[in-house]
Amino acid sequence: MRVVVTGGAGFLGSHLCERLIERGERVVALDNFVTGAAANVAHLQDNPRFELHQVDVTRDVTVDGDVDLVLHFASPASPVDYLELPIETLEVGSIGTMHALALAKDKGARLVLASTSEVYGDPEVHPQPETYWGNVNPIGPRGVYDEAKRFAEAVTLAHRNTLGVNTGIVRIFNTFGPRMRPNDGRAIPNFIRQALAGEPVTVAGDGSQTRSICYVDDLVTGILTMADSGHAGPVNIGNPHEISMKDLAEWIISLTGSSSVIQYIPRPVDDPSVRRPDTTLAQELLDWQPQVAIEDALLRTIDWFRAEVATAHITEPPLDARETAHILAGH
Ligand code: UDP
Repeated sequence: MRVVVTGGAGFLGSHLCERLIERGERVVALDNFVTGAAANVAHLQDNPRFELHQVDVTRDVTVDGDVDLVLHFASPASPVDYLELPIETLEVGSIGTMHALALAKDKGARLVLASTSEVYGDPEVHPQPETYWGNVNPIGPRGVYDEAKRFAEAVTLAHRNTLGVNTGIVRIFNTFGPRMRPNDGRAIPNFIRQALAGEPVTVAGDGSQTRSICYVDDLVTGILTMADSGHAGPVNIGNPHEISMKDLAEWIISLTGSSSVIQYIPRPVDDPSVRRPDTTLAQELLDWQPQVAIEDALLRTIDWFRAEVATAHITEPPLDARETAHILAGH
């Protein structure tokens, strides 16, 4: 197969490219490097089956030659990133998705859209099945991401139903692993970076809000299984392992052997209180469920962050906790 991965130099995109190359496929990675980095796929660059192009998919998506599959993963995905890039986030979810769909239509390829658990907003149904419509504030600070992805789902389905494009939608829940940017502002990279540096670990609110966290290798398997199927979805892909942010912070402090203390910071506006995927559909349709134990996954991720710190790849200045909270609060 020849596979186009938009956002191919990002966290999830780079892991997808790596697995596809291991499987023997040809991969064309497209990225504008706003939140992705060529370093994430540097180890693939010498492979003749791998190409990386600097492309902004909101402008155009043109690829020469055959394409069998498009994995549309281009988007800022951390709340800190998409609050700094609100227009770009809306554009890539809307115009970028339409360009990716046009490419799939033109090439007769299947397209799999990376949607998100954010379509459920601050959920009033728990855990969240795909049939739940969600509780999203369109004009709150997170609306730029949530609504972009909700539009992306709608336009993807419209292309399937009206134009006959072979599409699939995955709703991705919180995922972590190597190659997350240590300063991307999300809970797991923040907690690991802070714990390794012996700095206070910043927990928002009272830390009772929950997320369900999935190791990246499991997620990639789920996405590629969906890509290989003909299913339309949407299908939740995530690990139902649910944990409060306070417990997660304490777990990471303990696994890193850190002496860091917890520092409580303001809770972001519209921050969902709970989130857990109902993965029944993924099990039934795709025979997929996560395999990697979360403790092993956290230890692997911590090892990677430790090595990054040792080789001084962390060049961005760490975001100040109050600054992060300020951005998230929409000021
Ligand atoms: N969070 C936190 N400390 C941080 C960063 C995030 O307590 O330094 C909280 C955040 O408020 C949210 C949860 O962790 O309740 C998960 O946030 P993240 O940005 O990782 O993902 P998302 O909100 O998109 O699920």
